Amino acid sequence: MAALLGDANPAGTSNLPRYLGALGSMLKSRMLSHTPFFLAHAMTFGCNSRCRTCTYWKNTHKMNLDMKTDEVFQLLDEAYIAGMRGYYMFGGEPLIRPDIGKIVDYAKNRGFITVMNTNGSYLKKKAHELKNLDFAFVSVDYHNEYDDYIRGRPGTFTEVMDGIQEMKKVTDTKIAFVTTISALNRDAMRPMARLAKELGVGISFNSVEQSLDFGQTSEDTTPNFQLGLNSDELHAFYTSLQELKAEGYPLMETDIVLRDFVAGTPWKCQFPKMFVYVTPDKKIYNCNYVLHYDLRDGSFGDYFSSRTYLDYVRESETCNKCVRTCVRGYSYTYDLRISQIAGLAGQGKNLFNQATPDTDISGNADASSSSGRTRRMHIERR
Ligand code: SF4
Ligand code: SF4
Repeated sequence: MAALLGDANPAGTSNLPRYLGALGSMLKSRMLSHTPFFLAHAMTFGCNSRCRTCTYWKNTHKMNLDMKTDEVFQLLDEAYIAGMRGYYMFGGEPLIRPDIGKIVDYAKNRGFITVMNTNGSYLKKKAHELKNLDFAFVSVDYHNEYDDYIRGRPGTFTEVMDGIQEMKKVTDTKIAFVTTISALNRDAMRPMARLAKELGVGISFNSVEQSLDFGQTSEDTTPNFQLGLNSDELHAFYTSLQELKAEGYPLMETDIVLRDFVAGTPWKCQFPKMFVYVTPDKKIYNCNYVLHYDLRDGSFGDYFSSRTYLDYVRESETCNKCVRTCVRGYSYTYDLRISQIAGLAGQGKNLFNQATPDTDISGNADASSSSGRTRRMHIERR
């Protein structure tokens, strides 16, 4: 197992105790406490992208409310005392924080598994600060420069490809793409799966939900209703994922999750027992972005024993709302479903034994492309 997880981190100490600690915290939650073991921390209100499927970047003016470095360390201490052993960093864009390297180092040394969701634009610049990052989930929505259009930032695609190359050079971080399918990129599934395979990274697909986005209260102010997939398109989305999985592409989704989405099988959501979502200003929100608790006035323990939390857990179990593959997968894992565990073990190689790409990943490794990097999507013609 040690070999599978990497014998040692860059500081020369074994990773095994942290992974065993994370496994133990999950089992303790499952068997005893029924409280989260993953701290999901939106690290900043800021973002340097302007994705067409997102409105979070409109919060950038509130970055002055982001917790300072010492406050993040304190949050991590509080989470550790509350039994959490996973630290999931996202934003906004976590890499715009100047102290990101210190925070990753602190979390890992404290005993957390460190996971980051990033838009990847600063990966090249910050790779040397991320040697203690265990997993990086990098958002890429298209297999060439059309990605720049979707993400509203010129140069994004090249930055991300260069960033992955740099990460592979200077870190042992396991990398996976996160590709979000919407009306803007329904044709991207197979080429993105192929790109992931060629670069030696995993890939997870999600879809834009026809729901309200963070902080939005009206259908008119969120792009999700215009760009989200309808039920027929969702069915086609899951069916395509099944096909790609069967063909051996490095999808993170398991067979049982995809099969149950296609069949429309109801499920029990365990998300609130696994993750607690903390905002940049130390408030706890639920999965629908409703304010639940202010951690500046109390503790994780107080929140987990509150009526608000207990009702949230109970009502979630029959919610069935998410179309996100990851949430159903997390829930199946928490339920210790044999087919899910077997599926995770089988696809673990996608993350843990990542190949060194045999293509020039600073270029366009899209084998379906007729002329590689020089083939550019003419955005204005779409
Ligand atoms: S999806 Fe992520 S990277 Fe894009 S604007 Fe929203 S927070 Fe930023
Ligand atoms: S299925 Fe419902 S309760 Fe579970 S994460 Fe999704 S929205 Fe929240």
